[in-house]
Formats: sequence, structure tokens, C-alpha cells
Amino acid sequence: MKYVLVTGGVVSGLGKGVTASSIGVVLKACGLRVTSIKIDPYLNTDAGTMSPFEHGEVFVLDDGGEVDLDLGNYERFLDVTLTKDNNITTGKIFQERKGDYLGKTVQVVPHITDAIKDWIESVAVIPVDGKEGPADVCVIELGGTVGDIESMPFIEALRQLSFSVGQDNFCLVHVSLIPVIGVVGEQKTKPTQHSVRELRALGLTPHLLACRSAQPLLENVKEKLSQFCHVPASNILNIHDVPNIWHIPLLLRNQNAHDAILKQLNLLSIAMPPALK
Ligand code: ADP
Repeated sequence: MKYVLVTGGVVSGLGKGVTASSIGVVLKACGLRVTSIKIDPYLNTDAGTMSPFEHGEVFVLDDGGEVDLDLGNYERFLDVTLTKDNNITTGKIFQERKGDYLGKTVQVVPHITDAIKDWIESVAVIPVDGKEGPADVCVIELGGTVGDIESMPFIEALRQLSFSVGQDNFCLVHVSLIPVIGVVGEQKTKPTQHSVRELRALGLTPHLLACRSAQPLLENVKEKLSQFCHVPASNILNIHDVPNIWHIPLLLRNQNAHDAILKQLNLLSIAMPPALK
């Protein structure tokens, strides 16, 4: 199994869900079978008990699971049917209490992190596209923003996962914000530099940056990001504001995001349809 992890930096509501779904679309267009997992680090068991005014609509899956709207994006973008287990929350992880520890001290590391890794690895192999056998790639979206206290156990579990599956099987895409400050009118890279530094301090190195901005990124801004964030310029994607989210897979394709991801996952040799070559 190959994993593409999508994290977010600087602020929430950046479009991680839409970016992760769109990554799934371009990988699917390359002929790969794709599944997805959404991690919501909140303590609620699921989105069913959360106020729609605060959290947005609840998406109801075929198996009755009440989950985050992003799961709806995955189902629509990828034409898959997900299960409630494709949505991991801190609440669900902490609910696992079968008395298996037999009086031992239960700790975040290794018990919680092991539970997270086991959950990811067992759900990633469940077929969701109506075909038999596991998918080729599992896109994991980590909700929230890197540095949040709630997401720390997940970050640590994902760091361990990246190490255990090996570098050819793990690609990290970090979605970040490039703001423009008032009258100066410059696209600012510092918030992204800080969030990449935070991620690296936690043991995860981004292979691709997906930069959210109002207008397309200027070439010198890309170069600066590359230099300071240690990511090749060809792996810096720009997802500027678009009139509707169905443009985003095309934005990714036009910037050859699939090439960069396949290269990282050592899959460049797969037969790609002519439109993506
Ligand atoms: P997150 O998962 O980071 O919280 P979402 O994927 O839910 O963010 O996106 C937040 C909102 O931003 C959604 O309404 C989505 O449609 C919108 N959005 C995301 N990316 C873009 C974009 N490139 N252009 C315009 N709107 C976008």
C-alpha cells in the first residue's frame, strides 16, 4: 500500500479536503485505484453530535456513519463508497477500551499511536470502489493545522507509519497559505516557512507544497519557498482561488502534480493515459 498524506499549515479551512480529493482524482486518472481516510483530531466520536452552525453539514455514509463533509467530496470526486471507519477521530481511538492492556500503564506513545497506525493500515486495504482487493494508494487527510495539540498523536503515528512503510511508499503534501498583505501587495512566504519548520520539527518532511493563494503564485515566490522549505520548485503546486472546486484536479494536472507524486511513490513506470503524459 502506498500512502499520500495531506496536512495543513497556517490556518484551517484552507482546502485540504478538496486538495486531497483532487489528488485522488489525478492518481485515479493515472490508472491507480484510490481509497481515502479522513482524520479529524477532535474528541467527538463523530460529526453526528456537532452543531451544523459550527461544523457545517454532516455527511451520512451508506453504512449510516455520520461524518465530516470531506468524506462526501471523496465519494463524489473518486466515485467510491466509504465506510464510517474511513473517518478516524480522537473520540473513536479513545473509545477502544476492551481491557486488552491488563493493568499496564496506557500511554499516548505507544498505545494511542499504535491504535492509530493499526486503524489506518487495516482500513486502507478495504476496497471502496466495488472491485476486489485493496486499492493501490490511500490518501490520508489530517484535519486541523500542524501544531494543534489535538493532532499531535496523529502526527507521531503518521511519522512512525512513514518510517515503517519506507520512503517509496509515502508522499507528504503540505497545504499552506500564501497571503498578500495590504498595500505592499506582496505574496508572503513566511507563514508557510514556519509551518514547514514545525512539520519538520515533528519528524515529517513535505515532498510537495500545495500553496493556497488568491492569485497565481509568482515565480520568484516559488523559488523562495523552494529554497527555504527544502522542496524542489517543480514540487511546489499553486492552488489559487477558483470559481468552483471541480477546477482543482485540472490545476493539479496542469502543474504535473501526478508526476511529482508518482515519482515520490516510485510509480513513474505505470502506463499513463496520453492526456496525462
Ligand atoms: P479544509 O479541509 O482545509 O478545512 P475544505 O477542503 O473543507 O478545507 O475547504 C474549505 C472551503 O474552501 C470549501 O468551501 C471549499 O469549497 C473552498 N475551497 C477550497 N479550495 C478552494 C479553491 N482553490 N478555490 C476556491 N474555493 C476553495
